[in-house]
Amino acid sequence: MTPPTWVALLVSFIPLPEPVIIVGGGLAGSEAALQLAARGVACELWEQRLSGPQRPDGSPWTPAHVSAGLAELVCSNSFKSTEPVRAPGLLKQELRLLGCRLLKLADEAALPGGAALVVDRERFSELVTSAVRSEPLVSLREGEYAELQADCDRGRHIILASGPLSSDALWSQLSALVGGERLYFYDATSPVVAAESVDPEHSFAHSRYDKGEGDDYTNCPLDKEQYLAFREALTSAEVYPIHGGDDYKLFEGCLPIEELAARGRDTMRYGPLKGAGLEDPRTGRWPYSAVQLRWEDAFHSAMSLVGFQTRLRYGEQERVFGMIPALAKAKFIRYGRMHRNCYVEAPRVLQPTLQLNYEPRVMLAGQITGLEGYLSAVATGLWAGQNMARLVLGAEPLVAPEGSCLGSMLRFMSNPAHKKYAPTGFQFGMHTWLPAKMQAQAKMELILQRAEDAWAQMLQTTG
Ligand SMILES: Cc1cc2nc3c(=O)[nH]c(=O)nc-3n(C[C@H](O)[C@H](O)[C@H](O)COP(=O)(O)OP(=O)(O)OC[C@H]3O[C@@H](n4cnc5c(N)ncnc54)[C@H](O)[C@@H]3O)c2cc1C
Repeated sequence: MTPPTWVALLVSFIPLPEPVIIVGGGLAGSEAALQLAARGVACELWEQRLSGPQRPDGSPWTPAHVSAGLAELVCSNSFKSTEPVRAPGLLKQELRLLGCRLLKLADEAALPGGAALVVDRERFSELVTSAVRSEPLVSLREGEYAELQADCDRGRHIILASGPLSSDALWSQLSALVGGERLYFYDATSPVVAAESVDPEHSFAHSRYDKGEGDDYTNCPLDKEQYLAFREALTSAEVYPIHGGDDYKLFEGCLPIEELAARGRDTMRYGPLKGAGLEDPRTGRWPYSAVQLRWEDAFHSAMSLVGFQTRLRYGEQERVFGMIPALAKAKFIRYGRMHRNCYVEAPRVLQPTLQLNYEPRVMLAGQITGLEGYLSAVATGLWAGQNMARLVLGAEPLVAPEGSCLGSMLRFMSNPAHKKYAPTGFQFGMHTWLPAKMQAQAKMELILQRAEDAWAQMLQTTG
C-alpha cells in the first residue's frame, strides 16, 4: 500500500467531531451556520417551520412567523442606518469586515430606503434559505428541538438561537439549565396596507431631510386639529387583552403607538409622527405632523406604517388609522399585533464570548440574549458561529476587542454589575470607555478611530 493510502486509512479511524447543533433558523442561527461552514465545521440547523408556519394540527409555530423560510423578518423590513456615524451603521461596518454573510444577502435584496438598509423581506429570506441549503456542511433538520439537557449531557456543542418566540418546551429546558425565572417582555408589529389604497391627494413622497431617493417614503400629513383628534381616538380605542393580565413589561425602544399617544400630547410628534424634515411640495413647508409609509416589497405593492406597532383590535385599527386622511380607504394586508418576547438574564448567565457560564459548550445568539433587534441578532449569530468554530477546532473562543461596537455590546450584555437587565439594541452609550465630557464631534472621531484600531489589532493577532 502506498503511504497516501495508509494515511487515508488512519484518518478514517480518527473520530470526526460531531456536528454543532444550532437551534433556530432565524437571523442569528442562519448566520451562525454559514460562519461555521465557512470554517470547515459541520452543523445541524434545527428549524421547526421548514414545512410551513403551521404545526400539523394547524396551529401556528409562533405568533409572528408567516413563512417556511429561514431568516424571516417578522415586522419592519429595515436593518436601520448605514451611516457609520450612527450606532447601527458602524456596527454594520464591523460585521462586514468580519465577513458577515447575511448583510451581503441583505444588500442583494435591498430596496430604496434612504440612509437605512431596507430589504424585500421575501427575497431576503429566499436568498438566505438557498445559501444555507447549498452549504454541504450544514444539514437542515426539520422539527421542534427539545433535547437540550440530553445533548448537554452527551457533551454536544450547541448554539441556541431560537429567538424571542422560542418554543415552550425548549424555553422551559433552558430555564431549568440556567436556573432562573423566565424573563419576558411584550413587543408589537406594525400594520401593512396595499400601496394602491393610499390616497395620493393626501400624501407626498419625500425622504426626511432629503436623505436617499425622493420616493423611499410616502408621508401622510396631519394638521394640528387632525393630529389631536387622532391622538384622542388612539388613547380611547379598544385593545386586545394581554395573556396573563396587564402586568406586562414593554420594550421602551419599540413602544406601541397607543402607548406613545397616552404618554403625552406631543410624544408622537417627537417620535414616529414627526413632521420635521419632510417638506410638503404643495406647501413648501414641514407639516405639523406626518405618518410615514415605507415600501414593503420590490414590486411596490405594499407599505408598512413606520413606528405603528400596536395592540389595537383589528376593527379599531381600520377605524382609528383610517382617520389619517391618506389612509381613509386603506386596505389592510396585515394588522399590527403584540407578542411575548423571551430572553435570558444575560449578565447572570452569559460570558462575552456568548458561552453559558456553567455549560461553556453551549452558546446563545440572537434576541434570546436580550440584545434587541435584527442587527444584534445577525451580530451575535456571527460571533457565536466564529467562536464555536474556534472551540470545536481546539482554540479558545475570543472576546471581541474593547473599543469596537461588537466588543462594547457583548461586554454590556454580560456585565454582572447590571442589576436590571432590559432588552436593548447597540448604541454608542455602551462604549463605557468614552470620556463623559467631550465635544460631540471629537467623541464621534474617537469612536470611529478606536473601532478601526481595535479590529486592525485583533485581526493581526488572530488572522
Ligand atoms: C413580534 C416581533 C416584532 C419584532 N419587530 C422587530 C423589528 O421591527 N425590528 C427589529 O430590529 N427587531 C424586531 N424584533 C426583534 C428581533 O430582532 C427579531 O425577533 C429577530 O428576528 C430575532 O432574531 P433571532 O434569530 O434571535 O430569532 P428569530 O428570527 O425569531 O429566529 C428564531 C427561529 O427559531 C425557531 N425556533 C424556536 N424554537 C424552536 C425549537 N424548539 N426548535 C426549532 N426551531 C425553533 C423559530 O421558528 C424561528 O424561526 C421583533 C420581535 C418580535 C417578536
